[in-house]
Amino acid sequence: MIERGMRQTILVAGGAGFVGSHLCEKLLLEGHRVLCLDSLLTGTMANVAPLVGHPDFQFIRQDVSKPFHVAEEITRVYNLACAASPPLYQADPVHTMMTNVVGTEALLRLAAMKGARLLQASTSEVYGDPECHPQDEAYFGHVNCTGVRACYDEGKRAAETLCFDYRRAGRADVRVARIFNTYGPRMRPDDGRIVSNMIVQALAGAEMTVYGDGTQTRSFCFVSDLVEGLVALMEVEPAPETPVNLGNPEEFTINEIARIIHAALPGRSRIVHLDGLEDDPRRRRPDIARARELLGWVPRVMLAEGMPRTIRWFAEEAAPGAAPDRL
Ligand code: NAD
Ligand code: UDP
Repeated sequence: MIERGMRQTILVAGGAGFVGSHLCEKLLLEGHRVLCLDSLLTGTMANVAPLVGHPDFQFIRQDVSKPFHVAEEITRVYNLACAASPPLYQADPVHTMMTNVVGTEALLRLAAMKGARLLQASTSEVYGDPECHPQDEAYFGHVNCTGVRACYDEGKRAAETLCFDYRRAGRADVRVARIFNTYGPRMRPDDGRIVSNMIVQALAGAEMTVYGDGTQTRSFCFVSDLVEGLVALMEVEPAPETPVNLGNPEEFTINEIARIIHAALPGRSRIVHLDGLEDDPRRRRPDIARARELLGWVPRVMLAEGMPRTIRWFAEEAAPGAAPDRL
């Protein structure tokens, strides 16, 4: 048993990605040793460049769906390894499924062997195109198991199953976070997700692409809030009996998001409508009562604050020279 506040050695699988790099940074700041394990499929060394050279940071290039061994003793494992953007996880759907199933099982086995606790980064996608709104953790979901999103949705559902089977068998202390749409600095400019896509399009003066009629909704959590929630869930005692939703319940239509970004970068672009995507969920908003109750966690950065911060980062870091006058 690790005492609260004790220095730990923590493996972050997927640590060079958007969320993972912020998590690695926070864990190092808290004084822990961090092993960042990543295949660099969608993550980049640039994301962890400020951490490389830190005496407590080690990068291990490894695909979790292929055999691997970690010699060092570890006390915590965060499993964030998996492309999260629909175009990127659909680019090699079989690999996405294997990452979630074979990779998660490998990390669970590692956690069991080391006596470490594991947190699985699951997703609101386990609810599919939900018939209930907002979504709470008791909802079983509405997923098309043969659709183009299934490699991710069903992969993540299978990963949750593995986590709870390991837990029931007493093999590992496991926590499952169902993460809703998250945004912020270090999203890949080319990852195709709504926030990154529209900011990049607006900065470039290109057309801002709304898929379908834009009345579908999402709820957006700023990355620093999510990372706080992940650490709180990892460290809470006793382990929650069920998965826990982490997200910001502020809900927006995609048309509203387009207008907000357009208004922040005026005169550079225009909003256009393209065909809708297959199996695109119509509505999504987390019920976070459980996170509030069990973790005392609520998101603090609302879109009105987080979006300008994200736009500024894209303007300065991801698209230098494209900064608009109003920022
Ligand atoms: P990301 O694509 O930026 O990060 C994923 C990281 O995993 C990348 O660094 C990638 O290189 C790595 N990776 C992918 N496959 C791998 C493999 N087989 N072996 C080793 N490394 C591998 O995505 P993100 O937005 O940072 O998401 C992190 C996690 O959170 C993912 O598991 C994702 O499913 C989950 N999640 C994210 C969101 C979101 O809105 N960002 C929402 C729900 C769930
Ligand atoms: N979307 C859009 N234009 C884009 C990218 C995405 O209209 O350039 C829509 C997409 O169809 C979906 C929503 O925005 O309805 C969120 O998409 P994203 O890929 O960010 O996340 P996810 O669908 O996984 O929630």
